[in-house]
Amino acid sequence: MKRYQQNIRRVVPYVPGDQPDFPDMIKLNTNENPYPPAPAVQEVLSKSQAEQMRLYPDPTAHQLNAAIAKVYGVEESQVFTGVGSDDVLAMIFQTFFNSELPILFPDITYAFYPVWCDLFRIPYEVQPLNEKLEIVPEDYFKENGGIVFPNPNAPTGIAMPAAEIERILQHNPESLVVIDEAYVDFGGESVLPLLNKYDNLMVVQTFSKSRSMAGERIGFAIGSPELIRALHDVKYSFNSYTMNRSALAAGTASVEDQAYLEEITAKIVATRERSKTVLREMGFQFPDSKSNFLFVTHPDCNAHELFEALREAHIFVRWFDAPRVRDYLRITIGTDAQMDALFDFLRKYLGK
Ligand code: PMP
Repeated sequence: MKRYQQNIRRVVPYVPGDQPDFPDMIKLNTNENPYPPAPAVQEVLSKSQAEQMRLYPDPTAHQLNAAIAKVYGVEESQVFTGVGSDDVLAMIFQTFFNSELPILFPDITYAFYPVWCDLFRIPYEVQPLNEKLEIVPEDYFKENGGIVFPNPNAPTGIAMPAAEIERILQHNPESLVVIDEAYVDFGGESVLPLLNKYDNLMVVQTFSKSRSMAGERIGFAIGSPELIRALHDVKYSFNSYTMNRSALAAGTASVEDQAYLEEITAKIVATRERSKTVLREMGFQFPDSKSNFLFVTHPDCNAHELFEALREAHIFVRWFDAPRVRDYLRITIGTDAQMDALFDFLRKYLGK
């Protein structure tokens, strides 16, 4: 092997869900929102974006950060935006998880966390979920280099009450606790109100799910001005212009229409609750999800075979080839019509 080949940084990347493109497909595999983004987003994008493209975007993302700060009741100095919450989380890992101690996260959770640890050479230790697939707060009461988990957790959909997260914060005054609230708008309890009490808390959210803007790539973190300043310093040392002009404009338009967000998340929650009843009747079992997906298993069928059969029918769901979850499928909540097509398939498949 040549020296330059020996010097290649080798990593095992995160594998995102498939992005198939069939006209007749029912796509329930990557937790996207089945409804369009807010009407104002569509107006902003069709206006003068192409004309403006020759100019660099605002590196401070001022307009978007100010809009986010206003809606969430914080100062603009407490907001950091990035290219999806993946970008924000990667910056957080790089900026804050620099101790020799392992950071802690659940064994079953967002699969990107261990990938960033490997990339940035951050030691980590996974904490097993209990037999009900719940995060056990006491597992996070030991010495650590930081804590991160989604709430609701992914792919289980189980939400932890804010009071439990507060117990974790109380036991960790020396650690940064990062709560990834990617799915919180579908019924979880946000810990944003705890920011007034805990300077070591950072909350991350995304426009990809509840705001129906996965393709635009917008995520944000809210924390103390000191921590947000540190994140900006790392960002500006890496790439000043992470957020492009259309994302800044479209993101601002979305945040300014909270009523629309509430309307479409209520629709998805209603479809989710109906889906729980129908799937339970078919014999599926699942934890009580507060997110826009269900994590289901069936005692009479092999999850991987069902996944393949669904794929043949152009119904896409997610199956993880990983310990403890091989018998499960993660099904994103689509429109009522999409879910009905899925249920028809499942009834036939199960012979019910
Ligand atoms: N956190 C969790 C728990 C997720 O499931 C996802 C979606 N893959 C993300 C963060 C990242 O989403 P995005 O980069 O689209 O904001």
